[in-house]
Amino acid sequence: MGPRFRRDDKWGYTVAMTDASPMMAQYLAIKAQAAGCLLFFRMGDFYELFFDDAAKAAATLDIALTARGTHDGAPIPMCGVPVHAAETYLQRLIRAGHRVAIAEQIEAPAEAKKRGAKSVVARAIVRVVTSGTLTEDALLDARASNWLAAIAPLADGIGLAWCDVSTGAFRTQASTAADLDGDLARIAPAEIVAPDGWSGAIGATTIPRPPADFDSRAASRRLCDRFGVATLDGFGAFTRAEVAAAGALIAYLDAIGPTPLLTPPVPCPPAAVMAIDAAARISLEISRSAGGTRAGSLLDALDRTVTGGGARLLADDLGGPLTDATAIGDRLDLVGWFLAAAAVRETTRAALKAGPDVERALARLAVGRGGPRDLGAIRDGLAVAVALKAALLAALLATPPLLTATLTRVGAHGSVIEALRAALVAAPPGDAAGGGFIAPGFDAALDELRAAAHDGRRLVAALETRLRGETGVTGLKIRHNNVLGYHIEVAARAADPLLADPGFTHRQTLAGVVRFGSVELHGLATRIAHAGDHALVAEAAHFEDLRAAVLGHAGAIAATAGALARLDVASALAERATDGGWVRPTVDSSCAFAVIGGRHPVVEVAQRAARRPFVANDCDLSDHAQSPGRVWLVTGPNMAGKSTFLRQNALLAVLAQAGSFVPAATAHFGVVDRLFSRVGASDNLAQGRSTFMVEMVETAAILSTATARSLVILDEVGRGTSTYDGLAIAWAVLEAVHDTVRARCLFATHYHELTLLKTRLDAVALVTVKVREWQGELVFLHTVVPGAADRSYGLAVAKLAGLPAPVIARAKTVLARLEAGKARTGGLAADLSDLPLFAAAPAPEPIDALRVALAAIEPDQMSPRDALDELYALKRLA
Ligand code: ATP
Repeated sequence: MGPRFRRDDKWGYTVAMTDASPMMAQYLAIKAQAAGCLLFFRMGDFYELFFDDAAKAAATLDIALTARGTHDGAPIPMCGVPVHAAETYLQRLIRAGHRVAIAEQIEAPAEAKKRGAKSVVARAIVRVVTSGTLTEDALLDARASNWLAAIAPLADGIGLAWCDVSTGAFRTQASTAADLDGDLARIAPAEIVAPDGWSGAIGATTIPRPPADFDSRAASRRLCDRFGVATLDGFGAFTRAEVAAAGALIAYLDAIGPTPLLTPPVPCPPAAVMAIDAAARISLEISRSAGGTRAGSLLDALDRTVTGGGARLLADDLGGPLTDATAIGDRLDLVGWFLAAAAVRETTRAALKAGPDVERALARLAVGRGGPRDLGAIRDGLAVAVALKAALLAALLATPPLLTATLTRVGAHGSVIEALRAALVAAPPGDAAGGGFIAPGFDAALDELRAAAHDGRRLVAALETRLRGETGVTGLKIRHNNVLGYHIEVAARAADPLLADPGFTHRQTLAGVVRFGSVELHGLATRIAHAGDHALVAEAAHFEDLRAAVLGHAGAIAATAGALARLDVASALAERATDGGWVRPTVDSSCAFAVIGGRHPVVEVAQRAARRPFVANDCDLSDHAQSPGRVWLVTGPNMAGKSTFLRQNALLAVLAQAGSFVPAATAHFGVVDRLFSRVGASDNLAQGRSTFMVEMVETAAILSTATARSLVILDEVGRGTSTYDGLAIAWAVLEAVHDTVRARCLFATHYHELTLLKTRLDAVALVTVKVREWQGELVFLHTVVPGAADRSYGLAVAKLAGLPAPVIARAKTVLARLEAGKARTGGLAADLSDLPLFAAAPAPEPIDALRVALAAIEPDQMSPRDALDELYALKRLA
């Protein structure tokens, strides 16, 4: 038996399927092509899901799971979502980590019928929606890139390639097993394509692909075909592994849907950006806070951009600070230029803010998911760019090299803007299907069709008035719906004259109303419909022409969008610097690291919000005779501000090399090639490593990869194990950083014994964060001064934190005993076996609510009524 379509309000068209039904066979065949995806199976106005897909989707979307038909004798679970609301449901499924294949009906039901009564409408997967390949604004974060990465592990190295389908950006980089984690942490891809069977530990969703996709020779051919070149040499120098990764990425994109617009791949030499390992990225909270949100991160504290493209570029810049002092200087010069020219900055930001997201509109048009609104966005965005370029060139200020270069990237775009201006209405709709986006006056034939449709509707109105007169039915109306089209409607009690009149044909009787047709109305309706249909066809053709015109200039448009993003970033950084009183750092190829009056960009904001001052501190790790030392050993009580001081200096270096001004009085950095930060103890139980293991793995990575140009931040290394073991490890690590790695280093510790190293290691400087004890209380001054802390004040901090008084008192007793033992033997070992037992303090008396209430009563102040009420209240309490 063939499929039986049923229609109900909730589910739309559904079908009773059985094992034998052709529909079922079709479903199963398509499902087999959608490995790892939920299958949205188009049936009329709904996308239906079946079997396990239905169960998963119903659970994620919280929609009803029903059953239709049977398979192997068991009911088939089913759920569905209406096509018109599919985007919202898709968004939720993608967020929940699913991938969705969309199978559309690729022919009209009438065509299927022509083949035979039992044939099923042809369907095919037209697109796979995955988190790494989105283009829809509703599914994306406007201010974040959405990267899809590919990893090609070849014998001679690992290749990385990544692209953002929503903007067209496409890059590659050579990596190594040791650097892969850090590189991926920088890119933060939504999805990763890797050869089937590859087992690297990576965070994002991994999509296994056939190893053949990663063959570098085939990949090279694929890339050449794709970009219409004979060799990739013109795009830059790629390693074999980079080519393999880039080719695999293209193969994957080709497999899942319409080919997106990508710029040719740009190779990024690994040494061009500061290498920041994954642990440092997390502990320094560069793009995400410890809680995983943007709020609370360095990026959030920095970001004043006014466009999506600017926000994405800033995230990129900050995620991969540069290592070329000249390029950094160029960025800083541009920020400085915008800082000095306050009025120009204002107008630039206002203009940018008004412009739409050109990059994403272009990407949508390229994959065929764009609409007239995207064409409008390109028209308006390009116009903003052209006007801004003219204004900036006219500013009559000496222009820094990066501004000149950026403005050169802004094309004239005269023909595209003109074409779009002439063709489109001011605010075109998002969807082309409904028409109405081509401006009147653009196409005379289209105007005529629209006039005919309009005329027809006017004639319908006139006909209605005339029929009322002729029939004497004043309530007569001409209406339109999707089933009957235009029809005449009268109340049932007034229908008799029309029923008797051969000029009207009866079409439908409903409760209360009767509907009719007439020859004249039919004629008008046909005219309107034809004119409307032809107008839609004409508009659709214009849309395709305009789209082709825009895509013909895609490269130039993308370059302009990129230039706008750079202007946004630089002017936003100038704005941030003005707001915060930040200064231009000096960045050169020396080994300097000298900050005067540095502040933590995130903590300072938090302190200010709480109306507390932030104490600025100096730091000089420069490798020259006048500086205190290249390795600073920071001691100080808990809560004094050691971690803040450590991170603040790392963040200042990140900001400076990203091309931003910094919160300090002055700052001078010799380019940092690699930044390491091991802060605090964190479990990575998901990867099966204990706190201490994680700590040691990260420390090992630092010792094996840091160089003399690196910056190493070590916060309490060795604290995750026993005191002696920890101290021994911290001691040895500090020596290694000092003697072998020779990096600039900040090392915070509670092992005061380490201060002994000062006498043995000449580049070590001792500093401490000052506190004062005042009337038995601890006062934090947050000032970093030369010297070593006398002790950790751990108990004082514990008291501040609210540890119960008896526990504090007991800890003091134990501490005294430990310290006495230490004084006797020179070591920590102390005999605690004869320590008197912990005498628990008597529990405080429970509060007696009745007594409290009684004490509050003032009998002389009470009326008799109050007294009676109070008596009842007391009784209730008792
Ligand atoms: P622990 O040894 O317990 O890890 P710590 O010495 O590393 O402590 P931090 O965590 O850096 O201390 O700082 C504790 C708190 O002190 C911060 O949350 C912040 O509120 C405040 N603080 C730190 N540095 C400063 C500063 N320079 N100015 C003002 N407040 C500061």
